[in-house]
Parts: sequence; C-alpha cells; structure tokens
Amino acid sequence: MSALRDEIAAIIAQDGPITLERYMSLALSHPTLGYYMTRDPFGAGGDFITAPEISQMFGELVGLWAQEAWRAAGAPAPAHLIELGPGRGTLMSDVLRVARISPPFFDAIDAHLVETSPVLEAVQRRTLADVETPIGWSADIALAPQGPAIILANEFFDALPARHFVKTARGWSERLVGLDDAGALVFGVPDHVEQDLKIAAPEGSIIEVGAIAARLMSEIAARLVAQGGALLVVDYGHTRTTLGETLQAVARHAYVDPLAEPGEADLTTHLDFAALARAATSAGARVQGPVTQGAFLTQLGIAQRAEALQRRATPAQSADIALALERLAGAGDPTRNMGELFKAMAVTHPAMPDLPGFYA
Ligand code: SAH
Repeated sequence: MSALRDEIAAIIAQDGPITLERYMSLALSHPTLGYYMTRDPFGAGGDFITAPEISQMFGELVGLWAQEAWRAAGAPAPAHLIELGPGRGTLMSDVLRVARISPPFFDAIDAHLVETSPVLEAVQRRTLADVETPIGWSADIALAPQGPAIILANEFFDALPARHFVKTARGWSERLVGLDDAGALVFGVPDHVEQDLKIAAPEGSIIEVGAIAARLMSEIAARLVAQGGALLVVDYGHTRTTLGETLQAVARHAYVDPLAEPGEADLTTHLDFAALARAATSAGARVQGPVTQGAFLTQLGIAQRAEALQRRATPAQSADIALALERLAGAGDPTRNMGELFKAMAVTHPAMPDLPGFYA
C-alpha cells in the first residue's frame, strides 16, 4: 500500500472516479508523493535505464546532432540548448563535453534544463557542477529563455499523462479510475458518451490520446517557427496512429499493475509519433522522421564512434562498448535492444534543411 494510493482513493471517494490523465499526473507528479518527485529512478539499482545511462556514445552523437542543427539554423548567437526532462543530467553532460570541441557552438550557447522534480534537479546540479557553460533550470518550458534554441527530449514525452477512450455499446466513453467495493483502484467506464468521437471500432476497443503531449508539441513547434531552431524527440512509440493502448508501469526493471502502487512505479505510454507530427505541422513547423533510433544513431556514426573508443579500451571495456552499441542501435528483442522500438523525430523551423540522422 502506498501513501499516494490512499490519497487518490480519498479523492475518488469524495469527488467520484478520475480520468487516467489525472491519475497519471498524480502518480508521477504529485508534489510530495509523485514518482519522479521523490526519487532518482535510473540505473541498475533503480527502476529502469535510459540510453544516455547505457553509454556516453548516445549523448556524444546527440551532441554532434545539436551542433549540426545549430549550424543549419544559421549559427545563431546567442542560442539556447534546452533539455526537457533531463533525468540525471547525463545526456546534457555528454552533449556539452563534445560541444566544447567546437568553440563557435560552445561560445554561442547557454544550457537550460526543464525539470519538475526537485530530487532530479539536485542530481542534475551535481552532474553538471564542473561545466563552465551558464546553466539555468525551470519547471516548465514556457519559463525557459526565449530565442533560437536546440531542444532535446529523450524519454520525456512518454511520461506525460494520456487519456483512454473505450468503445461501448452506446459509443466512446472516457476510461476512468474508480474504487471497487473493497476499496481497490479499478478501471471503469461511465455512462457518459463522447459525442465528438465517431471512429468505427469493435466494442471493447481502446484508443489512447496523448492530449497533453500534443498540446506541448504545438507550443514548442510554434516557438521554433517564430524564433528558429530545432527539437529532437527520442522515445519509444509507433509511427502510425492505431487502436489499442500502451500504458505500462515499471518498477525494479519489471512490469507491474499500473493501479497497484501509484507513486512507486514509473507510468508511461508509447508515443503516437503521427499525432505529434500532425500537431507540429499544424503549427507551421517542419517534421523530419521519425526514423528508428538504430537508423538515427547509425547515420550519425555510432559504429565508428564505438570502434574509436575500443581502440583505447581494455578487452573488458571493449566488450562493454560492443554490448552498448547493440543495446542502443541493435534490432530485435525490444526488452533488450532499443534500436527498433525507439524512434527519433526532429521538429524544426520550416526553412531548416535536412538534418543528419534523417537523410534519405
Ligand atoms: N531524459 C532522461 C530522463 C527520462 S525520465 C534520460 O533519458 O535519462 C523523465 C524525466 O522527465 C525525468 O527527469 C522527470 O522528472 C521529468 N519530467 C516528468 N514530467 C515532467 C514535466 N511535466 N515537466 C518537466 N519534466 C518532467
């Protein structure tokens, strides 16, 4: 039993069932009991591991991409390097290390991290303590500095709360989280029907709508159109909008029931890249990709980078690098290799040329 479970049960007992969006929002971001607000979930001893934590190669290649995107934007100075949901700050640290090799880029940028969790902000401040670049933090991208920007979002959009709609005999209804007779959290469907949803599908079908993600994407795209720059999104997801839901809860590297222990497990959904691309193009931005993470990293030269690192590595280190290459860019088994399930997509100012990683 988690303290947050009891608090959510009390909210439902008083106000009635809540949407999945509200449930996810409480589970992840409740000010004192939310999953990200209370812990550093990354790494072997934590709940899950992300690409920048697997190997420095990921951040180094994203760093090269960021420089190329900045150059392709006309090398604006000053410019902002903004990261959404930076976790431990490892990606930003690797990106800034390679940026230092390119003085025009390094001198033009300041870094800005958008993070809601005070625990993770503290970890990021420690990770980036030795960096000479000016670094700022805010809890919302709307509060980040304005102007030309290269924006990075690795495994960020998947953490934004989603909505589910269920097809019943009467039509589509929003899936809610309520209480059963024993006081346990359960999914349910109200009598209320969403008149605007007209999609034909068999009874029992579910559609997942990342309304918060789409709204955020529209805002970022509008910013890039008005002020210049590019956003790189890397995340797990599908390239086409389909029926079905992808809500998952992970704790200690295993899948758990999403309603069992809110606040104790990471809750995510897969990205609907097609829906995000529609939101971006409607705001006037250009979309490049999505391509698989494997294709993106391969085009940026991950195999050559691995070889270069292996030349000065011990045999044990060399084996680790080979394993990291396989996990980051390899195809097959999505529980082990990220190469196919994860996708990269760029959203840019409409005049931006093709960017590396996305060449045909
Ligand atoms: N990018 C990192 C971490 C991914 S986990 C990595 O690849 O390792 C998701 C991150 O997003 C965490 O840092 C979490 O605290 C942050 N986060 C979640 N919801 C957020 C929101 N609404 N605004 C800002 N940051 C958020």
